[in-house]
Amino acid sequence: MDFRFNEEQEMLRKAAREFAEEVLAPRAEEIEENDEIPTEIFKEMAERDFFAVTVPEEYGGLGLGHVARMIILEEISRVSAAVAMMLQVFHLGIHPLITFGSEEQKQKYLPDLAAGKILATVAITEATGGSDPTGIQTTARPDGDGYILNGRKVFITGAKVADIAVILAKMNDDPGVFSAFIAEKGMQGYRSGRTEVKMGLKGSDTGDIILEDCRIPKENLLGNPGAGLKISLNAVGEVGRAGMTGCAMGLITACIEASVSFAGQRVLGGKPISKLQGIQWKLAEMFADLEASRLMGYRAAALKDAGQPCDAEFATSKYFSCEAAVRVAKLACDIHGAYGYMKEYPVQRYLRDAHLMIPSAGTSDIMKLVMARTVMKRYAV
Ligand SMILES: Cc1cc2nc3c(=O)[nH]c(=O)nc-3n(C[C@H](O)[C@H](O)[C@H](O)COP(=O)(O)OP(=O)(O)OC[C@H]3O[C@@H](n4cnc5c(N)ncnc54)[C@H](O)[C@@H]3O)c2cc1C
Repeated sequence: MDFRFNEEQEMLRKAAREFAEEVLAPRAEEIEENDEIPTEIFKEMAERDFFAVTVPEEYGGLGLGHVARMIILEEISRVSAAVAMMLQVFHLGIHPLITFGSEEQKQKYLPDLAAGKILATVAITEATGGSDPTGIQTTARPDGDGYILNGRKVFITGAKVADIAVILAKMNDDPGVFSAFIAEKGMQGYRSGRTEVKMGLKGSDTGDIILEDCRIPKENLLGNPGAGLKISLNAVGEVGRAGMTGCAMGLITACIEASVSFAGQRVLGGKPISKLQGIQWKLAEMFADLEASRLMGYRAAALKDAGQPCDAEFATSKYFSCEAAVRVAKLACDIHGAYGYMKEYPVQRYLRDAHLMIPSAGTSDIMKLVMARTVMKRYAV
């Protein structure tokens, strides 16, 4: 067992940290205030090949895999969880094309996605189906040389900015059968709807995608007819949850750094509060949460890269790290006293951002269902 990152991964971490420090850090507050990520940020990420990390080399990607992806997300989220959230979903949108796309679909979309010329998302959730994707109402009707889709997707990351979306729909002639389609911005009947105003992850674009008699050519059916649920669950289970783990790890690191710095400067009774055992214990708990999140997250990502089953491992890392992010952000605010709740200090942002990580890519309750299924199978005697 070797817990060290290789040289290539260390270089990637350095590059991601430099980007985060030099490009993102000066703009993090502007992103928060304007609730918008400037398009130059996406361009800068494209130039650094951050969209290309999991795309195979034959389609213009780096082919580096999921440990590498997690490193990038961790470093970016340390400075801006909102930007990391967007990047994680763009990777999520690419994944079904890599895994289930036809050769034509891969050649058509992957090189542009890897280069960041176009952005992708996955649109599963609806008002009637979040934790239970079978509750969705979007329908697909075969029509001539394609399909007609109708429905409204909600809480979609990148609803406004994504150029393509992998859409889950149920077949109108057999509502128990779900298929996945690649919809493009600009297709007749496809548009983004309202944008949500969220308590945290400000700047990340979350909103509706509306499909009104949206015509999808038959070559944009993704995978086999009826494979929609498998495609969606694979993407969210192995890429969405991995991404949220990376985002949570970066946020936890940011909380610890802010707390160590504040505790070293805040003087009470003639000495910095970092000398108080009560404060040190909080820092120790935060550190334990970071270490556990990183061990779980990178192990699950390594399993994914090795082609091993990793569904339960990502559910566990997602559950643990996102709950840990909330715990740690709360402790960071506590260490800051009243200052922790003031806009001047970033820890209040971290707490708001951490809370939104829990429902994204599946709530903690749903992660527990996945974990429980595995426990009952793996430990049955
Ligand atoms: C910032 C953000 C970004 C998102 N981005 C995307 C995206 O890009 N694409 C996309 O498709 N979706 C996206 N989502 C939606 C997300 O996947 C859903 O919010 C999530 O699956 C939960 O669904 P829900 O919000 O409808 O909650 P519900 O499913 O209505 O759940 C409500 C409550 O019931 C609990 N619950 C539900 N079922 C069970 C059960 N069986 N046992 C125990 N408890 C249960 C839940 O844990 C929760 O506490 C995003 C959400 C957020 C917050």
